[in-house]
Amino acid sequence: MGRIYHLKCENGDYEKDLFLGQGMVYPGFNGSYKAAFCKNCNDYTRIMVDLDKNGKIAGKTECCESNEDISVVDDIEANDGLICPKCGGNITVDIVGHWD
Ligand SMILES: [Zn+2]
Ligand SMILES: [Zn+2]
Repeated sequence: MGRIYHLKCENGDYEKDLFLGQGMVYPGFNGSYKAAFCKNCNDYTRIMVDLDKNGKIAGKTECCESNEDISVVDDIEANDGLICPKCGGNITVDIVGHWD
């Protein structure tokens, strides 16, 4: 089961829900969605990583064809250094639900 994270800018100009964690596990594939920032779209998104391979990226983002402009957020629950794409303010992260 995965968790739904709600990102919110301290200045109120940006909000986004990200569905992260293990929502889809294929046989032999220990996958998990992690948060990522796409520089191309200037927005947060999610990306599938392979937990058996040290969190290696194992898919594409849902926003772009290439992963070139992606940086993965290692631990979103640490809530460290997430910056608002609109104003550069701090983003707070809350868990608002579960998904599967
Ligand atoms: Zn993108
Ligand atoms: Zn902002």
